[in-house]
Amino acid sequence: MAVKLVTTVQELHSEGARLLAGKRGTSQGLVPTMGALHEGHAALARAAVEQNDVVVATIFVNPLQFGDAVDLDRYPRTLEADLALLDGEGVDLVFAPSVDEVYPGGEPLVRVTSGRLGEKWEGASRPGHFDGALTVVAKLLHYGLPAAGLAAGDGTGGGLPAYRAYFGQKDAQQLALVRRMVADLNFPVEIVGVPTVRAADGLALSSRNRFLSPEEREAALVLSRALRLLEERAHAREPLDLESAQALVESQPLVALDYFDVVDPATLEPLAENCRETPFRGEGLALIAAKVGPVRLIDNTPLSS
Ligand code: AMP
Repeated sequence: MAVKLVTTVQELHSEGARLLAGKRGTSQGLVPTMGALHEGHAALARAAVEQNDVVVATIFVNPLQFGDAVDLDRYPRTLEADLALLDGEGVDLVFAPSVDEVYPGGEPLVRVTSGRLGEKWEGASRPGHFDGALTVVAKLLHYGLPAAGLAAGDGTGGGLPAYRAYFGQKDAQQLALVRRMVADLNFPVEIVGVPTVRAADGLALSSRNRFLSPEEREAALVLSRALRLLEERAHAREPLDLESAQALVESQPLVALDYFDVVDPATLEPLAENCRETPFRGEGLALIAAKVGPVRLIDNTPLSS
């Protein structure tokens, strides 16, 4: 395997700098993940490899963003398979730190707060989730800064490499929040969003899909079907008639709908008046979340007309 695994920040900096120097690199890509990788993560890695000289992926299951200790314990951990997938995509370096490496003094006292944008939708069902997620993303973006490795020695001697980080559109609220954090707090990194990868039948790939029984997996297809219905109506410049799409989801007995709405893609504020009875206009994002059996699933699709 060509990909190299490191577990400490010090090794990440020295290996990152060595790779940049060796490749005379002018750009570095970072792909943050929690492991249990699938084709969705592979698409992030592929985009990063296409666009950068050196690519670092991170694998870290962040306790700070789990409200529920059982959910954290149950989160799948598949390091060997993850390394093989990342190696196959041409990733150079994998940083898979321990919890102590990331939080050496225990849980951090000072954190990133996600504000109003972090309190709605997923944030309403998972209080504190986005503060925890943004805090670790901030740390990972800093660990991965090419300048951090170069400052530690072994510099390329030239200008600072470009720095890009890759996030999936699948987690639309997380992506919107990461973009806001980077803009509001002036992080020196370009955020690249990657479209959602789906199974052939439409189900958005997720590490949690493995917990669905065959019947639940079949029932879960109603989420992507309902989104598709809205896409088609937006495309045809018809009213979205969200209520009928909601009724379709609610007709599936194994699915308990949490929310389903059409929002502004940047602010995630509802675009109610734009979609009920008049033809849909402009740019929107349809967001959906539901429990299918015991598994909470989220999905979304961009709308434009
Ligand atoms: P996770 O390991 O679930 O934290 O996800 C790591 C990154 O992969 C996040 O930026 C996700 O949005 C992205 N991701 C997860 N599933 C998909 C998917 N089906 N398509 C595209 N990106 C995804």
